[in-house]
Amino acid sequence: MTTTTSHYAHTMNWPTHAMRVLLVVVCVTIIGLSWYREAQIRDADIRLAETEASNLARSLVQQAEDSVELVDNALIGIAHWLENFGDRPNAVKHLQELLYLRKSTIPRLRGLFVYGADGSWIATSETENIVGHNNSDRDYFRQHRASNDRGPLIGVPVRSRSGGQWIITVSRRLNTPDGQFAGVALASLDVTYFVEKFQAFDVGTQGSLALLRNDGSLLARHPFDEQAIGRNFTNSPFFRHVSADNSGVVHFRSILDDVVRISAYHRSTKNGLVMLVARGYEEVIAPWRAEAMWRMSMVGALTAIIGIMGMLMIRELNSRQRLLSAVMARETEFRLLAEASNDMVTRIDFDGTLTYVSPASLRVLGWAPDALVGGHALAGLDTGDRTAVEALVAKLRRGEISQAMIAYRTRHRTTGTVWLESSLSVTRDPSSGRVNGVVAISRDVTEHKQLEGHLSRLATLDGLTGLANRRFLDDRAEREMQLARRADHPISLLLIDADHFKAFNDTYGHLAGDHCLQQIAAVIQGHATRPGDLAARYGGEEFALLLAETDRAGAHVVADRIRHGIEELALPHSGNSASEFVTVSIGVATVPPGMSTSTVKDLVRLADHALYAAKDAGRNRVSGPLSVAPTTQPEQTPVA
Ligand code: GH3
Ligand code: MG
Ligand code: MG
Repeated sequence: MTTTTSHYAHTMNWPTHAMRVLLVVVCVTIIGLSWYREAQIRDADIRLAETEASNLARSLVQQAEDSVELVDNALIGIAHWLENFGDRPNAVKHLQELLYLRKSTIPRLRGLFVYGADGSWIATSETENIVGHNNSDRDYFRQHRASNDRGPLIGVPVRSRSGGQWIITVSRRLNTPDGQFAGVALASLDVTYFVEKFQAFDVGTQGSLALLRNDGSLLARHPFDEQAIGRNFTNSPFFRHVSADNSGVVHFRSILDDVVRISAYHRSTKNGLVMLVARGYEEVIAPWRAEAMWRMSMVGALTAIIGIMGMLMIRELNSRQRLLSAVMARETEFRLLAEASNDMVTRIDFDGTLTYVSPASLRVLGWAPDALVGGHALAGLDTGDRTAVEALVAKLRRGEISQAMIAYRTRHRTTGTVWLESSLSVTRDPSSGRVNGVVAISRDVTEHKQLEGHLSRLATLDGLTGLANRRFLDDRAEREMQLARRADHPISLLLIDADHFKAFNDTYGHLAGDHCLQQIAAVIQGHATRPGDLAARYGGEEFALLLAETDRAGAHVVADRIRHGIEELALPHSGNSASEFVTVSIGVATVPPGMSTSTVKDLVRLADHALYAAKDAGRNRVSGPLSVAPTTQPEQTPVA
């Protein structure tokens, strides 16, 4: 049995296992797809930030290039003028005017300067005294003097000697007509000019905008950082990347503050200036992160709901399956037992319909199970037993009792009425515990019942005459006496004794005596006409007739008819002193209405007295009735 159950459990378990796996796959897929989608949104945000940074870098490097070009144009004009008209009288004065003019047309220009071959100041747009200043120690000156290159030179930021501000210099070499070094023309731009331009763009707290020279020297930066201005970043990991391409985007971790940044750079093809736009990676994705957290927590909550609901459903399914397999196992056992049984096993649903009938029905009722299933369980029930059976079934159905045993008559297909004894047990729904039917185990007890009837007849009837025996008479007399008392009816008793019967036996033999007793009994039985009357053999050749609801006069009439009837049988009896035929003497006693204290004993005693009186008086006669007197002195009641 255990193996059967575990086998079921095993086979029923795999679908729930598969469903569990499916549920996990569904939940993981939902979360996985949502996260993939979030990653795509994040990447799109990063791409957008990269594009914006890249565009900004291109635009700003263009502006820087334009600024340098603008001031360089001024330098070209100054160089041209000097080289062609520098030997004119009042040349310095003219030059000074030219510088003023140029500066006034270019607002971003901080100042214009012209230095001689020895570095001394020749002219300036500034209102300073030029005497005594010498710039031959400046980098750009040394470079121009050393190199014959006529292109513009962008210098590393320096603090201005004229104003003290951070400036960027753009300078050109001046030549003598024969190509010798003649000095330097220089324009200065305020670093703050660039920084202010950069400030217009919001790059967050972790972002930065930086303008660098081709060699990696920092020219301007927002946020402004005095320490970094002029520093060379050639060796930074980032700049190594920049030197390879003219534009691009790099994600890198800063060596300064350990912050990861998205950096777009753009290099000017004209003068090699590099514009760098950096955004903090975390700042770029922060809006996405906030929204993604919210969306993912919604997805997570939904997934959790799906997961929990799914798990609960699977658990419910699992327990149902377990219940089902247990029920199936029990059902299998039930069938095994039922089919093997000699008794008919039936299952009856709540409405009384047969849902299962075991093969023994063929023997017990003469019908194959198939002919009975679907029919009503009480079909064929004997009408005499219907009330009792239905009452019992109703009790079972109401749940008042759960088991019962009952015997009843029902129809057998071929042999007619049979007695069945059924043991009934209610069945209950496994999940609700409610009564849902009855299982009946029925056996044929017809033979048993017949034997029982026979035995009870044996116990109550006299074997020779077929009348009731004395014990039965005693019982019945007691009951009738009670009924008479309750209903205030009279009741009478006849004691009938064959006359000189010893002599009869002696003359005709014992067998003839028996036959004679049977004939006497038949006459007496013929006078027991009412339902309450009872003829009985009282013992030997003595009989009794109990007459319910019969008063003194009635009893006397019956007694006389019996005496007369026996005489009329005309059975020869030579030893009878009263007649040549068989005769009887009869003693009659009556309890009239209202004698509530009288007993059967009183009645018998009186009848016995009367009988003796009849014998004494010569036999073949009726004596009495003697009545129970109101004084309870029955002996003194006069003979009627
Ligand atoms: P009395 O008129 O005074 O009643 O005389 P009696 O002979 O009938 O009375 P007694 O009581 O002396 O005898 C009863 C006889 O009845 C004795 C017995 O042989 C006979 N008897 C009793 N029972 C049976 C029976 O079952 N069959 C036969 N054949 N005779 C029986
Ligand atoms: Mg006798
Ligand atoms: Mg007798």
